[in-house]
Amino acid sequence: ELHNTIMDLRGNIRVFCRVRPPLDFELGRLSCSWTYHDEATVELQSIDSQAKNKMGQQIFTFDQVFHPNSTQHNIFEMVAPLIQSALDGYNICIFAYGQTGSGKTYTMDGVPDNVGVIPRTVDLLFDSIKNYRNLGWEYVIKATFLEIYNEVLYDLLSDEQKEMEIRMAKNSSKNDIYVSNITVETVTDPNHLRQLMETAKMNRSTASTVGNERSSRSHAVTKLELIGQHAEKQEMSVGSINLVDLAGSESPKTSVRMTETKNINRSLSELTNVILALLQKQDHIPYRNSKLTHLLMPALGGNSKTLMFINVAPFQDCFQESVKSLRFAASVN
Ligand code: ADP
Ligand code: MG
Repeated sequence: ELHNTIMDLRGNIRVFCRVRPPLDFELGRLSCSWTYHDEATVELQSIDSQAKNKMGQQIFTFDQVFHPNSTQHNIFEMVAPLIQSALDGYNICIFAYGQTGSGKTYTMDGVPDNVGVIPRTVDLLFDSIKNYRNLGWEYVIKATFLEIYNEVLYDLLSDEQKEMEIRMAKNSSKNDIYVSNITVETVTDPNHLRQLMETAKMNRSTASTVGNERSSRSHAVTKLELIGQHAEKQEMSVGSINLVDLAGSESPKTSVRMTETKNINRSLSELTNVILALLQKQDHIPYRNSKLTHLLMPALGGNSKTLMFINVAPFQDCFQESVKSLRFAASVN
């Protein structure tokens, strides 16, 4: 029996697994066999007897497993404490990892009548900020939206093509990273933030029809910097929430443009390397090997909390990719 312990409650990194349901029009598509042993353990079996013998039993343990009937509300219950931490000065990263069609965007954005992590984060943030105001704290949010495609950064609040670089802030004791030339919006009103999110989403999908499949091969990073000030106490709190809809984890089917494929996947494989290095508490964390990990350096490791959703689709024809996704951190112990 193969037992893959992806991780238990280890440091400040949590990994959740979410298996999506088949949609109405997919009911003819075969599912593989899923068994939910307990709230943290899932077993996956191919329904193809040959593959079953070859791959054996696949049991995976996470911090939490969400089965197909889990709701957006169930998911956000586990996310909410992180949002609170960000207001208290932590840097938070939330990722959705998985093959295209596995439910990453559904988890992060959701659909209009069933919104996901990002819109719920906005609601909770402004509710919390209101409560903090009664305690004398005033918050402003600085929001940026960017896309990383083929190791190039794109500003999702601007139509202009411009040079953007990841830079280290001067005079900063922390590892403060910023992006040059990016549009930074200062937000104090939830509707303003929702509007910006719509603009960013529109710009991402517009770009995606131009460059083929771009949105499934790019990373979308929503960053909310939370700056709180207490006038009387002369105290400050600076935290951030980084919400990342990652590129599809599937191996490319064709080798048409190999260099591009390599670059496209680089950020994703370097992200897994960084997460593994953090979990193994290695001395050297290879943040600078890709744009995504460099950008998120202050929010991965150190004074930070990371949550990764491993999204998987239930289908037999996704079996190999699902196993790959679920195994992703299995080499740790
Ligand atoms: P990805 O972003 O990983 O490519 P999507 O989030 O677009 O995948 O999901 C693929 C399809 O499945 C979409 O139509 C989405 O609305 C739907 N979907 C994903 N997860 C769920 C879920 N938990 N419940 C209902 N529908 C879902
Ligand atoms: Mg998507």
